[in-house]
Amino acid sequence: IDPPPTLLHAFGSAVTRAPDHPALAYFDGRLTYRETDELSDSVAGHLAAEGVRHGDRVAVMLQNSPHFVIALLGAWKAGAVVVPLNPMYKSAEVAHALGDAEVTALICSDRAWEAYLRDTAADSPVRIALTACELDLQTRNDTRVLNFERGAPASDADDLVTVARQGLPAPAGRELTATDVALISYTSGTSGTPKGAMNLHGGIMYNAERQRTGHPVAEGSAYFALAPLFHITGMVCELAACVANAGTLVLAYRFHPGVVLDAFTEHCPAYTVGPSTAFMALAATPGATRDHFESFQVISSGGAPVPPALVEKFRSEFGPYIRNGYGLTECTAPCASVPPEKEAPVDPASGTLSVGVPGPDTVVRIVDEKGADVPFGTHGEIAVSGPQVVPGYWRRPEATAEAFPGGELRTGDIGFMDEAGWLYVVDRKKDMINASGFKVWPREVEDVLYTHPAVREAAVVGIPDAYRGESVKAYVSLRPGVDVAPADISAYCEERLAAYKYPREVEILPELPKTTSGKILRRELRSRS
Ligand code: ATP
Repeated sequence: IDPPPTLLHAFGSAVTRAPDHPALAYFDGRLTYRETDELSDSVAGHLAAEGVRHGDRVAVMLQNSPHFVIALLGAWKAGAVVVPLNPMYKSAEVAHALGDAEVTALICSDRAWEAYLRDTAADSPVRIALTACELDLQTRNDTRVLNFERGAPASDADDLVTVARQGLPAPAGRELTATDVALISYTSGTSGTPKGAMNLHGGIMYNAERQRTGHPVAEGSAYFALAPLFHITGMVCELAACVANAGTLVLAYRFHPGVVLDAFTEHCPAYTVGPSTAFMALAATPGATRDHFESFQVISSGGAPVPPALVEKFRSEFGPYIRNGYGLTECTAPCASVPPEKEAPVDPASGTLSVGVPGPDTVVRIVDEKGADVPFGTHGEIAVSGPQVVPGYWRRPEATAEAFPGGELRTGDIGFMDEAGWLYVVDRKKDMINASGFKVWPREVEDVLYTHPAVREAAVVGIPDAYRGESVKAYVSLRPGVDVAPADISAYCEERLAAYKYPREVEILPELPKTTSGKILRRELRSRS
């Protein structure tokens, strides 16, 4: 694998190869590679004129829109390090990131600016603000927004589109290299205080190139951005892989199953990647048919466990095979994936679907508490080293030393490797349930729940139990139009799992709580119990 050093290099090459090919598609709006290049040059020129220098931090807090991509490229062209922020963050979460990363410029939606970000930014190091009138699903007939033409009048912030349309040249300066920090990514919050993982340009492009060559689609194909771009999976496996392939990135603001299915029909994407929960939601959408998925050559799932029952149900109802992949923010997205022409095996003992095999130059070890290798088939912590592993957390030497001993990432995930080299993720170390001294891994129970025909989503947590210490509780949501009693679901699991593993308590919820990147939040369910 010999990737270009940065996404800007890959982008420059796509501009040369395919200047008039659409780089971005947003409902009925399009921007070619040449236009995207010019617009982002101008944003870079503006940021530089306002004093942004090489290595300064620029936060981008936008949904999946052309505005996100123009802002990102513009910030990088100005030499900045980008801090992607989840637009769902509340004021305190934004304030933490702005202060921790000492962000000088913030690019966000005009509505969020008015609603609370102006106040949040006032108490932070931010001194430059650019706001964007992004589409929302109610206003999607506004063609000025779709075509990246609208410039809202600036009050105390400059308008991103106006700035992008000024035709400023990008500043000349030191060229970014593979070893420069590209992103400070605050981990999405399924555990602990957010820490800023420092993703390098080289790590992004290594993984993008792996994704592009490992799951090949024709140059210029449409890639559908199902995962959010502010999350590392979207940034690497969608945006960077698409640009490396001079493809068209199809954006649809944020995940809304009906809108996504319409966009599949309109843009005929060849490739997408998203969390398994997104595929479950699409599969459960009334009116979803095989036709919606006809154009796909590759569908990958990453960032969350994939129940084997989902893969089979999805294939039989809609056609495509969902390719599992395992990654973390700290690995700049994937570190293992299912090779082309192969299907992931299911471990016969536990019923777990493999997440694939480590990529070239990536070493995955399964280690015991002391960091020594454990034998094949034995559970241990997954440890990863390779070109995509970040050098550490931003200004957190202690957390870095703890998570990256000797530069190797300790993932906090428990897994095992089979003799053929397939990797299996059992669960997160901290989510283990201890029922009368027996270890129960929630994933194994969830995989069984997903085989129940009525179950749409499932999450299993440990709840306090006076007799056993902890006992197993399942939360499920149901497929539309079906009804089943909690006791029946419990009995279904009892038939299939050891007595200490099956959920004695089952609660049905209309929907399970999720992060905006689509992961089910067991933590929130645990605190309900
Ligand atoms: P944290 O707050 O601990 O950083 P996060 O969910 O916010 O967690 P991410 O880096 O997005 O941060 O998620 C990585 C985690 O997602 C992995 O550690 C693993 O537990 C889980 N994961 C990712 N891919 C898979 C997969 N294919 N199968 C099972 N689990 C997966």
